[in-house]
Parts: sequence; structure tokens; C-alpha cells
Amino acid sequence: MPMSEFEQTKRNRVTRLPERAKYDEHTIFGIIDEALICHIGFVVDGKPFVIPSIHARDGNRLLLHGSSASRMLKHFKEGHDLCVTITLLDGLVLARSVFHHSMNYRSVVLFGNGRIVEERDQKMHGLKVLTEHLVPGRWEDARLPSEQELNATTLISMSIDEGTAKIRTGHPGDDDADYDLPVWAGVIPMRQQTLPPIDDERLTEGIAVPDYVVNYSR
Ligand SMILES: Cc1cc2nc3c(=O)[nH]c(=O)nc-3n(C[C@H](O)[C@H](O)[C@H](O)COP(=O)(O)OP(=O)(O)OC[C@H]3O[C@@H](n4cnc5c(N)ncnc54)[C@H](O)[C@@H]3O)c2cc1C
Repeated sequence: MPMSEFEQTKRNRVTRLPERAKYDEHTIFGIIDEALICHIGFVVDGKPFVIPSIHARDGNRLLLHGSSASRMLKHFKEGHDLCVTITLLDGLVLARSVFHHSMNYRSVVLFGNGRIVEERDQKMHGLKVLTEHLVPGRWEDARLPSEQELNATTLISMSIDEGTAKIRTGHPGDDDADYDLPVWAGVIPMRQQTLPPIDDERLTEGIAVPDYVVNYSR
């Protein structure tokens, strides 16, 4: 099925360096799916908060979860607007001048509002999507949530109403007059990397590291 584009609105249209903007679902969803964390922005009593969180995408909705006592999740219950940002860092860009130093990145900004997922099967489905987003294969292996654990967890499903991606790639952009300076310039590429897994101190003897852990990568 072909993916569509988000409409450009006053709120999500990139005005600064608009050539770096993308509004298509393929790009935006790809960044959401690759990232492990997001930052959720919301306003309570006129004061802004930005809180880091785990997320996962389920179609065109973003799933967020947490303790039922979380202030952030209580706020979402009331259906307020949310702004979620997600950033993947691809490199440090070292220009000849300090002024033109930059980063290579892929980021998204999403706007929507949340609703609490109350129905048991939908809640289990959402928790599965979140778990599988972090570690594909884990849901089938780990003990599933008990009724008590399910009740202690709030699941929020946020509509992705407006979305934008902004992407910077490539070399530094120095001023013409600076290209002859005897200063190294270029990019230090960066990526998320996993290291070899470490057994839990209380791991029962004889349990091997599963393939989905050994082969984990993003
Ligand atoms: C890792 C990283 C580091 C950055 N460092 C800096 C910095 O040090 N200084 C700086 O000024 N800027 C930095 N930026 C760029 C910054 O995110 C903004 O794009 C920029 O500051 C312009 O903000 P604005 O509100 O004026 O943009 P506008 O273009 O006015 O924003 C309008 C709309 O465009 C969308 N948008 C804006 N920025 C982004 C984005 N990054 N990703 C997805 N959608 C976006 C949003 O929907 C926003 O509401 C950085 C970005 C990243 C990802």
C-alpha cells in the first residue's frame, strides 16, 4: 500500500532550512521505528515539561506507556495536545570555523493527542507492540503481564495528526574564505551500537543467550 504525506500546516511546516524537511510517512515512520526513545512535550498549568519515554508505532498511532500514577500519563488522559520529538544522531560535523559546526541527524516532530487504552486485549496488543519494538522476539519469550501488572500500567495511544522529519546529511558548509585554512574539517560518523550481552547475576545455570539477543541490532 503506498504511504502518504502529512499535510503541511502552520504548526508543522519547517521554516528554517526547509530543504531539509520531509513530510512523507515512509521517512517519518522509518525514524520513529529506528529510535528507542522519544521526548514528550506538554503543558500543565501554563508550564512546559519535556519528558523522555519509550515509544512504539502501531500504524499511524504512537504508543506510550507508564505507571498509572505518572503525572504525564494522567495529563494525557484529559486529551490535551502533545508534541513528541525523536532524534537519531548520525554524526558530528566539524567545519573549519566554529560557527559552521553542526550535526548530521534525522529527527521528527509529531503533534497529536492521546487516549487511554482501557480494553484488555487492546492493552495487551499495545504492550506487545512496545516490547517487540525494543527487542523483537522478546514477547514470545518473557512472562506476560499479570492482571495486576496490567492494571498498574497505563497505555496511551496518540494519534499522529501532523508530522515532520528534518534531515541533515553530508559535509560541513564553510564560508568560501575559510576553505584554505589549515584546519581539519569533516564528519565523525556516529551510530547506535550494541555490545556483547551480559548475563544477569541470578541467571539460572544452563540458560543460553537467545538468538534474538545475540543478533540484536538496530
Ligand atoms: C541533533 C540536533 C541538533 C540540533 N542543534 C541545533 C542547535 O544547536 N541550534 C539550533 O538552532 N537548531 C538546532 N537543531 C535544529 C532544530 O531542531 C530546529 O530545526 C531549528 O532550531 C529551527 O527551529 P524553529 O522552531 O525555528 O523551526 P521552524 O522551522 O520554525 O519549525 C516549524 C516546525 O517545523 C518542524 N521542525 C522544526 N525542527 C524540526 C526538527 N529538527 N525535526 C523535525 N521537525 C522539525 C516542527 O513541526 C516545527 O513546529 C538541531 C536539530 C537536531 C536534530
